[in-house]
Amino acid sequence: MRKILLLFVFVIQSFAALSIEESTWDNGDTLLKFLQRNSIPMSLYYELDKEDQELASDIAYNVKYQILKDENNNIEQVLIPISDDLQIHIYKDKNNQYTLTFTPVSYQKDDRILHLTVKNSAYQDVYEESGSSTLARAMVRAFKRSVNFRNIQKGDEITLYYEQKRRMGRLWGDITIKMASVEINKNIQEVFSYNDIFYDRNGKELENFLLIKPVNYTRISSPFSTARYHPILKRYRAHLGIDYAAPTGTPVKSAGKGTIIFVGTKGGYGNVVQIKHDAGYTTLYAHLSRFAKIKSGQKVNQGQIIAYVGSTGMSTGPHLHFGVYLNNKAINPTSVVKIAKSELKGKQKKEFENTIVQYEKTVQEALETHQPNPPREEEFENYIEF
Ligand SMILES: [Zn+2]
Repeated sequence: MRKILLLFVFVIQSFAALSIEESTWDNGDTLLKFLQRNSIPMSLYYELDKEDQELASDIAYNVKYQILKDENNNIEQVLIPISDDLQIHIYKDKNNQYTLTFTPVSYQKDDRILHLTVKNSAYQDVYEESGSSTLARAMVRAFKRSVNFRNIQKGDEITLYYEQKRRMGRLWGDITIKMASVEINKNIQEVFSYNDIFYDRNGKELENFLLIKPVNYTRISSPFSTARYHPILKRYRAHLGIDYAAPTGTPVKSAGKGTIIFVGTKGGYGNVVQIKHDAGYTTLYAHLSRFAKIKSGQKVNQGQIIAYVGSTGMSTGPHLHFGVYLNNKAINPTSVVKIAKSELKGKQKKEFENTIVQYEKTVQEALETHQPNPPREEEFENYIEF
């Protein structure tokens, strides 16, 4: 917290008595309501382009955000996280006017290898060794398609090679597993990730997806990204879902079995349905023209029609914006939904093969030299926080 204060102080170059309030984003709250409630000009929202208004609708329920106030209780700055990589920053400019920008969250990334012999259960042991429930869940996601967890027993070996983000001395955000192997009764199962999709060593995609695609679409009009620099607009933006172009009125189906947790409007997303599934997953369907006969609390089956494609909210044309969240955090839907045939061929296959050779070499060296596991570290309690 001290670091943030110093950062704030540095930015505004003032040493007046400042205070930081940390709050939790309520379900149903919107950026527009937030601005209004805090007497910040709503033009900050209205002047955003459509994509950014949509992005601003993705402030996650329960996310922690900070408000910096001066001694007279006036808001100096606000930081609201959008994803692991991007945050909304509201501050007063040189002319004392409020300004809103999307700025990257700064963090470090390092590659780590964790190796252990199962004592209790794979999930529990990985969690206890690393301190990270995110890592334990990432392992489950990686193996989901190829390993029956019930077959993992005491004495089996697990090796995870992954990219860990760290921020202010703590584990931050989601984890990318590069390679995972589990030796069950001397039988080795391995998975390798490439462009967010898991493959076996022959480059064959591991099937058995958790979710199905929610609409028959004509094309994907916008893919998923947590933050990328737009070279023409010269700023950062993100797209926390997949846009499927489809005519107005096309049925939208639940990507999985679950319970409806929200039916209504959500800022730039227009008409929205949210569904809670097993294992911490939720899905979001936005810009809908209308809803099927559904209500909050109702159980739905995979493939059940829940709504119809539209262009409500901030939308340039009829499409379904489909978001997948794991524990309240947007993840790339391609990691859990079969989006398109993914068969590695030609150049991609070659690149995949080179990648896994590198991964295996790194892991093998670590194991042979008995490289210790990464230190057990504290995780940001709510995946996003300052
Ligand atoms: Zn979208």
